[in-house]
Amino acid sequence: MYNVAWVDNDKCIAEKGCRLCIMYCPEADTIMLDESVKKAIVIEPRCKGCDLCKVVCSTHNAITMFPVDPTTGKVIMGGEEAETAGLGQAYSG
Ligand code: SF4
Ligand code: SF4
Repeated sequence: MYNVAWVDNDKCIAEKGCRLCIMYCPEADTIMLDESVKKAIVIEPRCKGCDLCKVVCSTHNAITMFPVDPTTGKVIMGGEEAETAGLGQAYSG
């Protein structure tokens, strides 16, 4: 079981210029600005669940980690966060 990040649009302040999560995410093109709504959006299949975006968004608390069902690959919205992948684990392959 691993996690992916999810952005709560009601809390995200990207429309005011915040790009912290986008700047800090170590994965290219994984958390991006959704131009249509001016909020951050996670491209779930690319997310490694490293938690960095959640940490840098701690002031606005707009990012939650949700687990992914390993058999279906679907995000379990509202599910209890699985153990965070350490960075080494996330990038080992
Ligand atoms: S750091 Fe938080 S508030 Fe800022 S753009 Fe990312 S999700 Fe939105
Ligand atoms: S959890 Fe890590 S890989 Fe996923 S969007 Fe956040 S910073 Fe990027």
